Amino acid sequence: MVPVVALVGRPNVGKSTLFNQLTRTRDALVANLSGLTRDRQYGDGKVGAVPYIVIDTGGISGDESGIDAAMAGQSQTAIEEADIVLLMVDGRAGIQAGDEALVSYLRRKSKPFHLVINKIDGVGEEAALSDFYGFGIDGMHAIAASHNRGISSMMQSVLSDYSQGDESLERSDGGIRVAAIGRPNVGKSTLINRLLGDDRVVVFDEPGTTRDSIYIDFERRGQAYTLIDTAGVRRRKNVRETVEKFSIVKTLKAIADAHVVILLMDAHEGVVEQDLHLLGQCIDAGRGLVIAVNKWDGVDPDERDWIRSELQRRLQFVDYADIHFISALHGTGVGHLYESVGRAYSAAIKSLSTNRLTRILEDAVSTHPPPMVNGRRIKLRYAHAGGQNPPLIVIHGTQTEALPSSYSRYLEKVFRRELELHGTPVKIELRTGD
Ligand code: GDP
Ligand code: GDP
Repeated sequence: MVPVVALVGRPNVGKSTLFNQLTRTRDALVANLSGLTRDRQYGDGKVGAVPYIVIDTGGISGDESGIDAAMAGQSQTAIEEADIVLLMVDGRAGIQAGDEALVSYLRRKSKPFHLVINKIDGVGEEAALSDFYGFGIDGMHAIAASHNRGISSMMQSVLSDYSQGDESLERSDGGIRVAAIGRPNVGKSTLINRLLGDDRVVVFDEPGTTRDSIYIDFERRGQAYTLIDTAGVRRRKNVRETVEKFSIVKTLKAIADAHVVILLMDAHEGVVEQDLHLLGQCIDAGRGLVIAVNKWDGVDPDERDWIRSELQRRLQFVDYADIHFISALHGTGVGHLYESVGRAYSAAIKSLSTNRLTRILEDAVSTHPPPMVNGRRIKLRYAHAGGQNPPLIVIHGTQTEALPSSYSRYLEKVFRRELELHGTPVKIELRTGD
């Protein structure tokens, strides 16, 4: 399970600065999406091979009139959702009213937490720490978020119990892990029942309840799957029982834990902001992706062509993903989702030989040479695979740090086409030297 880390603390202690540092590694595609995702408070981070989800709570008011008031809204929810809390304080200001209350609140909740003493630039680590020893907290870290100091060793220590990371995907039973996600009411529950109700599906277990999604193992036409049910369908005793609240964290965990994500949208509403956020998360996490536009049965046949092309236009930035127009209610088109899921999965885990990658690189470079920088042409010498799900292609050369992102996107497109990497993002990593 992907751990969730929440950043809490008074305003101005440096939470957003830390959040930005933790989530900084974005590929070009995501950078292009930044306009869409700029105000989100959830991000993906990675320490070594271990991915995690980070929540920036935006700030506890620090109001001393009562801890409950201080813990109102966002922060409290974030703490509930988190596996680990990072309580941030300002190392220059020393202990402030409210810090102690927060510490005892977290203790009362038995929530694992670490104390992060920020802004130690200029004050010195020992001086900054000494103020806070009195709290008797084991996990104390002195950092300077804006200088990117102390952050990676802190995260290593914070997440030292979570070691498996992405490898857990490979170590799983060999089945394809598919997450069905989408906003409330788009039809997730209906689709999940459809997928499992298919005659060719053999469901193995009715898994126990967790606070997260439900994992359902099944087999279809000899292929094993685990369906990650974010709607909690199978936990309900009957259809009338209320669906639990949509949870971003639950959705993010499902994305992180899946090989392939089926993102559902509502044909009547088109692509809305929240769909774009979820798409951005799928891209960030590098997951295989299949888009299902649901409730197609309710769309006026005269308007279908227009709506279809409008949706395709809006979704151009994820042109690697198949788009299906389905009716979960009637089952129309649902079977085809399996084909796209299978294709995305194969692409995501495809093994790529150094030979093949290097040949494609050479062809791409001779068709369109990279630009000159400082009077010398950027050279791209060879490529090799660096990981799966998503496929990571590592390219070695000279002056690669100066390669324009448009050129990386060009390479990504060529690799995708030549290797038939359909349904998955492809990541390009550039290295200068051998
Ligand atoms: P938030 O309200 O807790 O999210 O705090 P911000 O991240 O917005 O930071 C508040 C201010 O503190 C900003 O002006 C930051 O540039 C500054 N800041 C953040 N981290 C550091 C640090 O490590 N050292 C110093 N000197 N300033 C920092
Ligand atoms: P969830 O909140 O994403 O799990 O959505 P549900 O599966 O509970 O569906 C929300 C509503 O949309 C229900 O009233 C469903 O019957 C309806 N619905 C789901 N799929 C379809 C569909 O393909 N066509 C139509 N017309 N309605 C649908």
